[in-house]
Amino acid sequence: MEGLGHSIQANRDNGMWKSIRLSRFGPKISHLFFADDLVILCEVQMEQARLLDSILKQFCASSGHRISGRKSNIYFSKSTEGSVRNQIPQMFGFQEVLNLSTYLRVPLLHERITSSTLSFIVEKVKRKLQNWDARNLSIARRITLALLGLALFLKAIRSGCMSFGLSMDGKIIFQILLAETNAHTNEDPFSKIWPTLRENLIWSIGDSAAARCWKDPWIPGIGSLISKIPSFANLNLDCCVKEFVNPNGSWNLDLFRVWLSEDIICRITSIPPPYPDSGLDRVIWAGSSSGHFSVRNAYWTLKEDTWNSKEEYWKLIWKHSGPQRVRVFLWLAFKNRLLTNAERVRREMGHNSSCSLCGYEFEDLAHALRDCPAAKDVWLLVLPQHLKQRFFSISLSDWLVLNLCCHEKMQDSGLIWSSLFGLITWHIWKNRNLLCFRISPGQLLK
Ligand SMILES: [Zn+2]
Repeated sequence: MEGLGHSIQANRDNGMWKSIRLSRFGPKISHLFFADDLVILCEVQMEQARLLDSILKQFCASSGHRISGRKSNIYFSKSTEGSVRNQIPQMFGFQEVLNLSTYLRVPLLHERITSSTLSFIVEKVKRKLQNWDARNLSIARRITLALLGLALFLKAIRSGCMSFGLSMDGKIIFQILLAETNAHTNEDPFSKIWPTLRENLIWSIGDSAAARCWKDPWIPGIGSLISKIPSFANLNLDCCVKEFVNPNGSWNLDLFRVWLSEDIICRITSIPPPYPDSGLDRVIWAGSSSGHFSVRNAYWTLKEDTWNSKEEYWKLIWKHSGPQRVRVFLWLAFKNRLLTNAERVRREMGHNSSCSLCGYEFEDLAHALRDCPAAKDVWLLVLPQHLKQRFFSISLSDWLVLNLCCHEKMQDSGLIWSSLFGLITWHIWKNRNLLCFRISPGQLLK
């Protein structure tokens, strides 16, 4: 195949082959090869067709390959005249197509791209999500879906789509979430958080060419000024912030005082007035001191009312390098929400608190994950020397903290101990459940 590429290239270099541009300022292209799929491009002339024909025949003769006429297509640009359009397909025995269709399920686009061009992806994901039952999605999958949504939101902001709308990606995830929620629940998680996220996007005043004084939010924590005025029939809502500046560069507070209360005036005076050389107005994230948006900061902003920042366990879990399912599992372990037999008895879901594997009379989480002989055997195989002394003697929460804080690299596997610990703990719990619920006692004894 490389030989064919070299032949085309040689003819291109000596000026025989006339490559074409796919866009006005794009590079000239003669051929694109991927594995045994070829896309060959040249000007529509009989002379060029004869040259291609001779190159292909020479290639087939020297390599022993044959070209499948059934699998090969010719696509002409719209301006191609009728006579050449008939002669060339006849010469090669290929059929002419009006659309190059898809390659590896991706459309080969040769027309203007519009918002509906990739709508098939949205439809496809929608159909997929209709089969998902939100109630059956694991917590780890819900977190992954939410993080995906926030990550796309972040990308939309960074890519400059800042008219308080959403980028194409954002629209897709928005529709994905709507599709999911409409299908199975009456809740609408993304549209619930969107107003809160939007409240924190404000204009940072530069030269005030863009920010509108009454409609756009530009004072942190206030929202748009329109919302603070009971009646605004006489206001020009589209006027810019710079129109409220005196010739000497200070705020014209008298104009604001007609409409706004003194506490808002105080907030305005704390903002430097627009200045012609201070750059363009730009949209910033009000939740951070730098104005930069991050998923982490957005999450904290959304949760700050209910968040207990003293809960150090959370930091450990979110910093834990491992699969999302392991993080969620560790969170449940910290909260003591895993249903051991002792916990089932406490919740009046069962009558027997003893361990199903070893018969120990009280199966709490420390027993299931660490002290049960089935778990202990595993730990003794992998435990770092310096942890052995405390490993089996401390409380469950101290045990989790001790191990998740230990970032020592394991010599044999190269893994960090905290990551390995998370994975092993998850597997021990998974195996315990498999043994308890899936395998009959007879098989277990074997
Ligand atoms: Zn046990």
